[in-house]
Amino acid sequence: MEAVRATERTQLRRLPKRATYQRETIYSILDEALVCHVGFAYWDQPYVIPTLHVRDGDRLYLHGSAASRMLNTAATQLPVCVTVTLIDGLVLARSAFHHSVNYRSVVILGNAARVDDREAKLGVLRALVEKIAPGRWAHTRTPTDKELAATMVLQFPIEEASAKVRTGQPMDDEADYALPHWAGVIPLRLAASAPIVDPRMPSGTATPEHVLALTKSFALPNGQR
Ligand SMILES: Cc1cc2nc3c(=O)[nH]c(=O)nc-3n(C[C@H](O)[C@H](O)[C@H](O)COP(=O)(O)OP(=O)(O)OC[C@H]3O[C@@H](n4cnc5c(N)ncnc54)[C@H](O)[C@@H]3O)c2cc1C
Repeated sequence: MEAVRATERTQLRRLPKRATYQRETIYSILDEALVCHVGFAYWDQPYVIPTLHVRDGDRLYLHGSAASRMLNTAATQLPVCVTVTLIDGLVLARSAFHHSVNYRSVVILGNAARVDDREAKLGVLRALVEKIAPGRWAHTRTPTDKELAATMVLQFPIEEASAKVRTGQPMDDEADYALPHWAGVIPLRLAASAPIVDPRMPSGTATPEHVLALTKSFALPNGQR
């Protein structure tokens, strides 16, 4: 896979050794993250709005209410910045100064375009549902025409983008390694608890396989709680 083009705007200046422009890395971060943040300027005020996203090939898709300010602003071809962050650990250094977090993040710059074709729109909504819960689309009522009309879908090219990744132990100053303060990493991950059934489900309804599989995919290793 070809790397995305690194531009003047996406060239990391702070700790550039943590940068990558490889699509594999950028895509894996986008695919693992459940939430992105969309930044845009509205009149003189910048906004950064959290929302769901899904990637298909070299495009990122966003959806929401047709009345959404974020989507309507982005749909006018104004420049947008989409950011995704995964937190992998807390990094405790000997010095207060070198405390940090391990992370994988992506920044994408560009312009969005509306997806209005009915089938294409349905395809994106399906991909969004399947991203949240693989196998779920077949277990849901499909959107009505009214729901589709109330939903805006945007596509966003993944062309001008960067990823930044921090891994490993704290980077203390050499002299500080003699200090007695505990130093190391506390790994973090997203974990699921047991599913809580909606009380309006008929009593005794069995938990479907895809729900159990989804819960299991977020389980901690070795049955940890
Ligand atoms: C969870 C998390 C916590 C962080 N905490 C801090 C903190 O407390 N203090 C701090 O100074 N920095 C922190 N960072 C790093 C921060 O995101 C910036 O990379 C850093 O502050 C440099 O910003 P800058 O505007 O000087 O970037 P520049 O290097 O000038 O940015 C130039 C270009 O590099 C790319 N870029 C910059 N940062 C990122 C990124 N994180 N991911 C992907 N592409 C990027 C963008 O395309 C940007 O346009 C954190 C990052 C993460 C993910």
